[in-house]
Amino acid sequence: MREMNLRRNKVFFQPKREDFDKYIVPCFSPAPFILVKGRGSRLWDQENKEYIDFASGIAVTSLGHSNVKLINALNTQLNKLWHVSNIYTNEPVLKLAKKLVELTFADKVFFCNSGAEANEAALKLARKYANEYYDKTKNEIIAFENSFHGRTLFTVTVGGQSKYSDNFGPLPPAITHLPYNDLKTFEQHISSKTCAVIVELIIGEGGVIPIDPFFLEQVRKICTNYDITLIFDEIQTGMGRTGYLYAYQEYNIVPDILTSAKGLGGGFPIGAMLTKEKWAQIFQPGTHGTTFGGNLLAATVAETVLSQLDYEMLSGVLQRHDIIMNELIKLNKKYNIFQIIRGKGLLIGAQLSSIYYGKAKKLTQLASEEGLLILIAGSNVVRFTPALNIPLDDIYEGFQYFEQAIIRFKDK
Ligand SMILES: *Cc1c(COP(=O)(O)O)cnc(C)c1O
Repeated sequence: MREMNLRRNKVFFQPKREDFDKYIVPCFSPAPFILVKGRGSRLWDQENKEYIDFASGIAVTSLGHSNVKLINALNTQLNKLWHVSNIYTNEPVLKLAKKLVELTFADKVFFCNSGAEANEAALKLARKYANEYYDKTKNEIIAFENSFHGRTLFTVTVGGQSKYSDNFGPLPPAITHLPYNDLKTFEQHISSKTCAVIVELIIGEGGVIPIDPFFLEQVRKICTNYDITLIFDEIQTGMGRTGYLYAYQEYNIVPDILTSAKGLGGGFPIGAMLTKEKWAQIFQPGTHGTTFGGNLLAATVAETVLSQLDYEMLSGVLQRHDIIMNELIKLNKKYNIFQIIRGKGLLIGAQLSSIYYGKAKKLTQLASEEGLLILIAGSNVVRFTPALNIPLDDIYEGFQYFEQAIIRFKDK
């Protein structure tokens, strides 16, 4: 019996979409096709149907698919060494850390494997910081309504969308949600019990809502006054997405901790928590850790991604932003389906007019039938997060498919 089962291990199997429903825990409902190949901003499915990619695997493959520099760097490392754990350090992780420190406010970096893990580390660090410098009553974490910070129990509780934490109780305590960009409520709520504030500079999953720079400035001031740890969740907005290396660099307002993931690895799983010296010293050997974090393959790819985010690349993001906004405004004049189009760089959201509320997903399904991959951000907003280097011709062609999708959308 044991031998029979193990023999099955070697039988050839051609997967189909139905096998998802058969074998995978149904916490996702993937599209009806299976993608098998990608080059730049184009993808192909099992039937060889071609798609233009305005989604980038949710703002992840920010230099396009099969990027030659990433492949070469990864190939070289693949042939040398993959993993040694954090019992030993390694060259790629040190190169990556040095670059991140030199390019940002941070003094030190902690590496992990995902955004949620980076936020988990940040939140734990903030709690321990308050514990060491103050007392156990300074433990309240403030987050904002509609924010998203990941899917671990701590991060899902901190996130401002209760649908993601419902029925997982008991939840971690001392977490408060306040309205985003509402300075008055924020000022009234802050107290000596507040330990940390975590904020997205553009609410991503929750609808593509940019922060009010004045609000951000005041939050920074108040956090400094009360020695509250200020965490910027730049998991979606970082790594060039807004036309800056990190979105905070547009405002010249620095956090105490910043979390990065998604685009950091260009498609390879990696997360990072960046912080200042005073906070870094709170995590001593044994206080926090990870087996895979900072492994050689992930660090190699991330360092190569980072090395490509030069002035030219980031200027290209701003140029592409203008083109996409223009195309969206043009389409909206013709078809009148959006009430607001907003965002920065290549993180753009178009909110449907109220008569179409709840139908964002439908629009993305029609778009993929036409050959264009786009995202939703909640049920009323379609989100565009193409690669930072998407060819301009692919943008224009993508919008032709989007127009076809809109025509069909309105017909229904
Ligand atoms: C995607 C995302 C996360 C979670 O990242 P994972 O890698 O899925 O754990 C956290 N915060 C923000 C702002 C995100 O966009």
